[in-house]
Amino acid sequence: TPMQAPELVQVLVDQAQSFATVSQRNIEVACDLADADACDVAVELDKLLQAWQIILDNAVKYSPPNSLIRVLIDVASEMNTTYVNVSVTDRGIGIKSDDIGRVTERNFRAQNARQARPDGLGIGLALAQTIVSQHQGRLRIESQVNQGTCVTLQLPTLRSSVDA
Ligand code: ATP
Repeated sequence: TPMQAPELVQVLVDQAQSFATVSQRNIEVACDLADADACDVAVELDKLLQAWQIILDNAVKYSPPNSLIRVLIDVASEMNTTYVNVSVTDRGIGIKSDDIGRVTERNFRAQNARQARPDGLGIGLALAQTIVSQHQGRLRIESQVNQGTCVTLQLPTLRSSVDA
């Protein structure tokens, strides 16, 4: 279902802010929507919010309780496509570079994650990746061990009638 980018962003911000409250974590949210006005995004909102929750959950799970989590949402063009970029940056345990490519595999859990959180199944990000792909989007993961992780969800926008 097509949604205007600013409307979608507001829903994502609301979810991050409610999660900050329920998880009692400091989640700072910033948006740069200068170029968002004329953009629509085709989303299946239930599913997209499920992917968003998985990414937020991981940031909380894999970082210390008193550390800051930053959410940044912007709209930016790359080549011929304009993306809504939604990123979550934590200051947690991080992911070894050898493992980054595997974290969206079903049942894969890095050694440091198994130590920090013995009970996970390793399915959250596999599901998030599937959902994001269904939206023709991408998941980007950057990380450094013991420094933190940045997970970015990129959603392509539809060409607005003004640009067409
Ligand atoms: P579950 O699916 O039960 O929640 P999980 O958190 O291990 O378990 P995923 O969300 O699929 O599963 O994540 C897979 C792995 O990716 C994690 O086990 C961890 O190694 C790594 N990972 C994901 N997010 C982060 C993060 N923010 N910081 C550090 N490691 C992460």
